[in-house]
Amino acid sequence: AIDAGELLLFCQPKVDMRTRRFCGAEALMRWKHQRRGMISPAIFVELAESSGLITPLTQWVLEAAFDARHRWHEAGFEQPLAVNLSARDLHDPRLVDRVQGLMSAWGIREGWMQFELTESVLMSEPATVIDTLGRHRDLGIELMLDDFGTGYSSLRYLQQMPVSSIKIDQSFVRRIVDDPESAAIVRSTVELCHALHKRAIAEGVEEVAVWNALEAIGCDAVQGYYVGRPLPVNEFPAWARASRWSQPAPSTAKT
Ligand code: C2E
Ligand code: CA
Ligand code: CA
Repeated sequence: AIDAGELLLFCQPKVDMRTRRFCGAEALMRWKHQRRGMISPAIFVELAESSGLITPLTQWVLEAAFDARHRWHEAGFEQPLAVNLSARDLHDPRLVDRVQGLMSAWGIREGWMQFELTESVLMSEPATVIDTLGRHRDLGIELMLDDFGTGYSSLRYLQQMPVSSIKIDQSFVRRIVDDPESAAIVRSTVELCHALHKRAIAEGVEEVAVWNALEAIGCDAVQGYYVGRPLPVNEFPAWARASRWSQPAPSTAKT
């Protein structure tokens, strides 16, 4: 797929709940297969991880995402773009140098890129991985904990990982309105995030009712179809310019 040029980079917006403005985006890979059509990364990323092909795949995504972020800057956008990394990537000793190389090649400044990681990155050689994460953070790359609540959810990992934000998994967020237990999990996670001085981001927000429930809880940011679906990265600046999430929030002050 890499050699045939069949990979595409899409991205999906994130919105700050307080300002109601677009505050960043997540880069998501797509494979446009000649016969099978669009294949979801949910299928091929796992295959790439188990076959050892994740390294060139991640390399492709990083190049495409840094290039895209450079173009965003030229188009007048300052919001960060997040790339998903696999556990394997964090064990690759060449990763930090590659990232540093891409930063200087594309003129990427501190705060422009983020990495999303799951707790599984700490499953083997946690001390080495924490060191690698710290080196990326020192380069000015913000780190986020992805799919929180579904993996090992070790509170020690949470304490040790140099992440600034936590993304609460869709499986809890989606049920927040109908299921009191999911609501309790989301509420406690947001409180935990704030107590640890981290931002809470809810994933998979599809409806206004879910937005309202998250707003009442004090969640910081959201991502999901309610805000915007993933779209090709080169279409993103036009979307962002026209979007209601780029306009000033309507005044809610009572007269
Ligand atoms: P993820 O990191 O949790 O990404 C969020 C997934 O949820 C994306 O699926 C996105 O399209 C989908 N999504 C977003 N909002 C909604 C919503 O409101 N409702 C529903 N039902 N779904 C929503 P996608 O793009 O199919 O990616 C699946 C997974 O594949 C990602 O989950 C991530 O773990 C992995 N992945 C995607 N791109 C990459 C990549 O470049 N590198 C690596 N290592 N993994 C990737
Ligand atoms: Ca992610
Ligand atoms: Ca996720």
